Amino acid sequence: MNRIIINIILILFLGTQLLFSQKITLVIHGGAGTILKENMTPELEEAYTAQLEEALRVGYGILESGGTSLDAITETIKILEDSPLFNAGKGAVFTNEGKNELDASIMDGQTMMAGAVASITTIKNPILAARAVMENTDHVMLVGKGAEEFAETQNLEIVTNEYFKTEKRWEQIQKIKSQEDDEGLVPSTNTDEKHGTVGAVALDQYGNLAAGTSTGGMTNKKFGRVGDSPIIGAGTYANNQSCAVSATGHGEFFIRYTVARDIAALMEYQNLSLKDATHQIVKEKLVEVGGSGGIIAVDAQGNYAMPFNTEGMYRGVAQDGDYQVFIYKD
Ligand code: ASP
Repeated sequence: MNRIIINIILILFLGTQLLFSQKITLVIHGGAGTILKENMTPELEEAYTAQLEEALRVGYGILESGGTSLDAITETIKILEDSPLFNAGKGAVFTNEGKNELDASIMDGQTMMAGAVASITTIKNPILAARAVMENTDHVMLVGKGAEEFAETQNLEIVTNEYFKTEKRWEQIQKIKSQEDDEGLVPSTNTDEKHGTVGAVALDQYGNLAAGTSTGGMTNKKFGRVGDSPIIGAGTYANNQSCAVSATGHGEFFIRYTVARDIAALMEYQNLSLKDATHQIVKEKLVEVGGSGGIIAVDAQGNYAMPFNTEGMYRGVAQDGDYQVFIYKD
């Protein structure tokens, strides 16, 4: 009798251990593009590395102390938005009109709830607005003025558009505009300078996945252009049954090829591993059609992938108490 009771206790104990022993994981990116070592100064490389490490440390700390994947990615992305180094929040690229217009989205893989904002100009942290849309409205996406009015009702920090300005991005837009021809077209050699976005995906100890992405979009964008970053299924997707994905790259391609959802669908319907699914979409399909960029992804077991088809991608992973940051091709 005693032995039976001991066995039951043992089984219950092991079951709980299994349930709460997910390999907590945080993966982040800070944009993909023509990022070459020869164009980088040691100081800049150090600054990017330190900033990515700091974001990983804070986000992973949340996961380690029992926090949710949603909280981990929200805080991680907030740090990257506040950093002038990345094209999201402070440091966002300029539109053709000389403004900063921001997009962001978030998705909860447990509930399949999602939130997004697009073309916003005064919300300091777009990712917080996306999360508020997910949690406090019946909608998925709010845009422009309406999104900004909503953010005020949520007591989110509002800033002037000037807050997002950095000299580096201002010079970049001036240079691109000086190369425009009479029809306002820029030579395609410049396209890689237009990239850069931030994103995070995470698996928490409860087995829940979450993904988020935030961006200033593409330099010199016009007419209220919106890319893939705030589009659920294109730039962001999370589903506990498959994976969490955040993308960066030439948004029009990521929208047309529903990149984030396509990766999850390959896993869901064809049983592909995360590694094979992400490789097939980023290194094969997107390359065939000319869609430059990359993604980060994690599945419910803590397998992760960070493939890209450009020269480099700011990226990092925290797992098993270890932090790793990469910039260039392997
Ligand atoms: N995907 C973003 C967009 O198209 C830009 C980027 O990731 O660099 O708006």
